[in-house]
Amino acid sequence: MQGKLIVFEGTDGSGKSTQFKLLCDRLQAQGTAFQRLVFPQYEEPSSALIRMYLGGEFGAHPSDVNAYAASTFYAVDRYAAWKKIWSKGYLAGGLVLSDRYTTSNAVHQGGKLPPEEQPAFFDWLFDLEYRKLGLPQPDAVIYLDMPTEQSVRLLRSRENATHTKGDIHEVDTAYLSLCRQTALRAAEHYGWHRVSCVDELGQVRSIEALHQEIWTYLSQSVFTLQ
Ligand code: ADP
Repeated sequence: MQGKLIVFEGTDGSGKSTQFKLLCDRLQAQGTAFQRLVFPQYEEPSSALIRMYLGGEFGAHPSDVNAYAASTFYAVDRYAAWKKIWSKGYLAGGLVLSDRYTTSNAVHQGGKLPPEEQPAFFDWLFDLEYRKLGLPQPDAVIYLDMPTEQSVRLLRSRENATHTKGDIHEVDTAYLSLCRQTALRAAEHYGWHRVSCVDELGQVRSIEALHQEIWTYLSQSVFTLQ
């Protein structure tokens, strides 16, 4: 038996955590049982190499660690979570929601390669995480598509509000822009469900409107699966 897995994906500052929380709250309010996951697991030892990478120990720029090497850091953290935290509930048929997943390697690492090498990288990732490591494939990937200009604005105001500073990914606007272009390619390559976070005028849509769109989509797809 296998469960159902819903993943929230997008570039930094696209609103993943916000939408993830809203969906969790709504499911909880209606009494639906589910398990929530957030990647990377910064508090766990399995994220040691990720913390070294994001903290700049291997170099101050994301490109100082190539796409394949950096992807393995994140993949082992997910493997640890699968073995320790959620395999049992999922294999018993449970519903699992995840803020980021294997999909984040495609978004955040793929852009380190030229566009013509990205399809092979996406296939390598798919093979590594789903086939070789045996992690479950998502039933739905909600890809929050936020233009870089708007996500940078949201990131900076979040940093001001929380008195924090972004990691080597979050402070690098050129890198964020590359991630967005790569994310659009990955969404098409893997068949993710794209949710546009801006309207026709380029204005960021309201948190509630985005939530409703996501809820409607999931109600007509994953939630109806037996
Ligand atoms: P992510 O998890 O993708 O990095 P967050 O969910 O933390 O993004 O959102 C980044 C910031 O933008 C947060 O301060 C959040 O409150 C705000 N935010 C997210 N979505 C919207 C939206 N649609 N409109 C306005 N602000 C938003």
